[in-house]
Amino acid sequence: MKQIKKAAVIGSGVMGSGIAAHLANIGIPVTLFDIVPKELLEDEKKKGFTLEHREVRNRIPTVAIEKLLKAKPAPLTSKKSLALIEPANLEDHLEKLREADWIIEVVVENLAVKKQVFTTVDQYRKPGSIVSSNTSGISVEAMSEGLSDDFRKNFLGTHFFNPPRYLKLLEVIPTKATDPDVVSFMKQFGEDVLGKGVVLAKDTPNFIANRIGTYGLHITLLEMVKRQFSVGEIDSITGPLIGRPKSATFRTLDVVGLDTFVHVANNIYEQVSGTEKQVFEVPVFLKEMVQRGWIGAKSGQGFYLKKGKDIFELNPATLEYEERKSLNSAAVEMAKQQKGTANKLKTLVYGNDRAAELLMSILTPVLLYSAELLGEIADTIVDIDRAMKWGFGWELGPFETWDAIGLEKSITLLKEQGKQIPSWVEEMLQKGHSSFYKEANGDLFYYDGDDYRAIETNPKEINLKQWKIKHGVIKKNTGASLIDLGDGVALLEFHSKSNAIGLDIMEMIHFAIDEVEKNYKGLVIGNQGKNFCVGANIALMLMEAQDDNLFELDMVVRKFQQAMMRIKYSHKPVVAAPFNMALGGGAEVSLPVDHIQASMETYMGLVEVGVGLIPGGGGTKELYIKHLNGIPNGVEFDLQKVANKVFETVAMAKVSTSAEEARENNFLSPADGVSVNPDHLIYDAKQAVLAMDAKGYQPRVKKKIPVVGETGYATLLLGAQAMYKSGYISDHDLLIAKKLAYVIAGGKVPFGTEVDEDYLLNLEREAFISLISHPKTQARMQHMLLKGKPLRN
Ligand code: NAD
Repeated sequence: MKQIKKAAVIGSGVMGSGIAAHLANIGIPVTLFDIVPKELLEDEKKKGFTLEHREVRNRIPTVAIEKLLKAKPAPLTSKKSLALIEPANLEDHLEKLREADWIIEVVVENLAVKKQVFTTVDQYRKPGSIVSSNTSGISVEAMSEGLSDDFRKNFLGTHFFNPPRYLKLLEVIPTKATDPDVVSFMKQFGEDVLGKGVVLAKDTPNFIANRIGTYGLHITLLEMVKRQFSVGEIDSITGPLIGRPKSATFRTLDVVGLDTFVHVANNIYEQVSGTEKQVFEVPVFLKEMVQRGWIGAKSGQGFYLKKGKDIFELNPATLEYEERKSLNSAAVEMAKQQKGTANKLKTLVYGNDRAAELLMSILTPVLLYSAELLGEIADTIVDIDRAMKWGFGWELGPFETWDAIGLEKSITLLKEQGKQIPSWVEEMLQKGHSSFYKEANGDLFYYDGDDYRAIETNPKEINLKQWKIKHGVIKKNTGASLIDLGDGVALLEFHSKSNAIGLDIMEMIHFAIDEVEKNYKGLVIGNQGKNFCVGANIALMLMEAQDDNLFELDMVVRKFQQAMMRIKYSHKPVVAAPFNMALGGGAEVSLPVDHIQASMETYMGLVEVGVGLIPGGGGTKELYIKHLNGIPNGVEFDLQKVANKVFETVAMAKVSTSAEEARENNFLSPADGVSVNPDHLIYDAKQAVLAMDAKGYQPRVKKKIPVVGETGYATLLLGAQAMYKSGYISDHDLLIAKKLAYVIAGGKVPFGTEVDEDYLLNLEREAFISLISHPKTQARMQHMLLKGKPLRN
């Protein structure tokens, strides 16, 4: 069985450094190689260096590693990951290639250069190590021609998408010589360890996602010119409205870089023929834009140009920038009223106006093209759909889109327009099958060119929507459900709006703990919404506050605190599985559990200060306790420093930008787990429950907590008071800081007093109620609800 304990990445450019960062994020040490510079930089000359100086020879990968710290979006999940990346050059350190279990080539997109790199790799690699290329579209087979048998057996394409940390797709491209065991290893490694969505692609020009994606972009360019639409108009209807990213068509091109786009298009153009070739021909205006250096975000202008706050769009006919336009039409308006992308699409493509016709003309060619290429670029429609969703951020892949708009209706129309329908699609319809996908009892099936087959998924992927269809729920209310996850584990799923915590969720927490204590081994708190939980339901609380219903508010906060304490002192293990945003109440619900199993992409923070409040569900206390528990037994520590750190985290509403950073801020303990693959999160959390149960779970015992008291309170406030005096924070900010400091300090007690949790919860509740009664806090809450951003008052 292969294992990847150490990797080498050759090429430290945009993709190479990003891939190295991703490997380091998951704990795999990487040697990052690049070429030795041929010329000295000015400051190297000033330092008296020659081309033989070590720093100069390693300069390219060293600079690339330094850049990782500043790159946006951040390629690293923690600065600490940097320690796992070591720079090297392709002349002095080739011996290091022998240490690597996986060598990934990420050099310039040029066959000759890549072949030269692989010839060197073949000489230095250890037998059995995996070698792969990140090429966007060069033949993988051609790259390995003439190399040793062991090399070719272990060689394949691994095509990451930019940026590698964030984009889910990994295309794995075997050659005829690749050992099938290496292919299956890579698929599993890609999913389980790299956390990617792996799609097996055939060794054809530009593989799956770029082939179809680039085709779609070219069709859009052609139709835009033919039908006389503007760049802004196209973007206004080819984004979220049809389930595509906000950057739609032209913003995406600007971000990718028009030079890269032209490069990719030319690669396909050279390798295809007939009408397909015509589509991939780069339009004259685009060539001209590249010539002028208007290649998008990298150069500051492309299809868009930003001047101050204003954004202008390019008119491709005149190459002048004009005011940005957007498209509105009856069909667009009607589509906007529909729920869900499938219904929006259906409304749009069959509409009767210009916008509807445009969408029909840019969407359907991609559906036909995808169907034509089935078998040539991928074995299944599932692979094609997944590649487009995971690589291009489409909500629906081409075949799912086709199902959404209705196969029979669209084909009748396409035939009327004289379009050729791929024979396998016609046959499918003749057999009476009118959709590419089918669902039966929670299982999903796809049409494989002959009949329907079950969609293969990784056994670690639990899809809650399907699970519930299959297994039902134990109990459900408006905000949450309790589900039997099998093997004696239950799952508490939030499903309120934004998964905000209200009374319904609190009630379900009580019910879940009762039920689990009686009938289950343990509980997972998790869901598969957009975000884990964005906080408590502030709309509800604001309403009560504006009506001066302090008694009700006190009751709500009490219930919230009690629910969190039930989680903490449950007789059975509880695991939280946060992902994406876990803010305010979302963090509070995660803090008291026995084990957090967080997705690598978890943005956790106690952000209540942003709406003029402090955490009301025991979050501050739990963060403080988690910090204290993190200090090894017998080690002397400064209690004030612990209080200061918690104060700083909450007062500044710090939100971690990854699970690792959440650990650095003490939201996660060293023992808490991180799932790199978000699709495996519920499974991993379930395993954590089972592991605790197997070890013989002992419920927590209540302990007293040492606090910094009155003197510590004064110390906590020093910073805030200085900021207030220099005008950095407002009166109300200072008031909130005081309330928060009072809660963390444990009120007016001597330094080091040991208090119980209920005492701290009472302090917290009093502070919370006094703040929510304040008009300035209410104004902050209102502003957040209306505008979605904090108000400084
Ligand atoms: P890049 O230009 O940013 O980096 C290429 C690196 O290769 C540079 O660091 C350069 O110094 C190095 N290099 C140049 N000549 C070399 C040689 N003779 N030997 C060894 N190294 C050499 O390019 P990139 O965008 O990172 O692309 C790298 C590869 O990844 C290409 O094959 C590209 O098609 C592919 N790719 C790129 C993207 C993307 O969005 N940029 C996405 C997927 C795949």
